[in-house]
Amino acid sequence: MITRRTFLQSTAVAGATVLSGLSRVQAATYDLLIKGGRCLDPATRQVGVNDVGIAGGRITAVAPNLAAADAASTIDAAGKLVVPGLIDIHTHVRSKEMPAICLSNGVTSLLDAGSQGVDRIDEVIDAAKGAPNRVRILLNVSRTGILPDGELMDINRVDVAAAQKVIAAHRDLIVGVKARLSRTVAGKNDLEALRRAQAITGPLKLPVMIHIGDTVSPLPEILALLKPGDIVTHMYAPPPHGIFDDNGRVIPEVIAARKRGIWFDIGNGRVAHITWALAESGLKQKFLPDTISSDWTDAGRTDQVFDFPNVLSKFLLLGLPVGEVLAMGTANPARAVAPFKGLGTLRVGATADVAILELRDGEFEFVDNDNTKRTGKQKLFATAAVIGGKKA
Ligand SMILES: [Zn+2]
Repeated sequence: MITRRTFLQSTAVAGATVLSGLSRVQAATYDLLIKGGRCLDPATRQVGVNDVGIAGGRITAVAPNLAAADAASTIDAAGKLVVPGLIDIHTHVRSKEMPAICLSNGVTSLLDAGSQGVDRIDEVIDAAKGAPNRVRILLNVSRTGILPDGELMDINRVDVAAAQKVIAAHRDLIVGVKARLSRTVAGKNDLEALRRAQAITGPLKLPVMIHIGDTVSPLPEILALLKPGDIVTHMYAPPPHGIFDDNGRVIPEVIAARKRGIWFDIGNGRVAHITWALAESGLKQKFLPDTISSDWTDAGRTDQVFDFPNVLSKFLLLGLPVGEVLAMGTANPARAVAPFKGLGTLRVGATADVAILELRDGEFEFVDNDNTKRTGKQKLFATAAVIGGKKA
């Protein structure tokens, strides 16, 4: 005799059987099914060849052999890595096209890290609103946004009240403040600029991201002005006043800052943000990045940065396992940046942001900001992305 229970099990295995006259039986249906990829979820540390079923914009199943007949559409991911949608927390949205280019690189969520300030923030807001992926914005502490000759050389460009007003008007999109503190950007105004950034964000309970490396003030004085949840980008910037002392040791104030909840981010970029030697030194001392980010710009598209999977791949070359590298581009940024909370995972129930990557073996050339070439044996390439359950 076939019991109701075994019948349900058998139909579940058979797939999209349409059952008339039998109440409350729902064959599993998917808007999209990602078939046969090697699923790697750094948030749960689950790895395995599985299908990913997506319905209503959410991940509804991660299991082997989900029935393709149940799916409105499928992506064949055989031989590929299926990972949470990549999250790049330091990019620059300088045109309406840039978010879409990031999405083609597997980046489903990104932060514009202070490209514009109060005066021209509408340009970034418009790009964010028109983007096919999730774009959030850090407002530059200087009302001018980034200036080639240093937006903080004149401290009067920081207008706390005006910044708060702009943030209040765009609270859904502006999620913090960015302050570039290097000598060529802020001169001797680095500490005062950071104090004002905290004056802007403090009452709003928003984070500040600071750009370090070659500051006038020593890093410990800068770190002392950070609050838990703030982010330090360009963590492996060359001296002076990077995270290392003269003997190459990570300074105690940096380790203490991490302990009290400050995040450390890569920000690859192109000029004086990272060298192989310093990254190696940091990794060797177990001062790993919380997050890897690209500091992607138009110029970076053809130089050093190229795309986010390329930047992630540099850390494969430096010896980190692929799961750890991907955690730094998915799960960790989802923890570090409040509006990305709940993303960066393939958990059932999570928003269906997925990147499908290829991890190719071969000989691949990478460069650091000194333009020193190194050859890696593996490289990540994005082949498809899903955002909010929809194929990009
Ligand atoms: Zn940047």
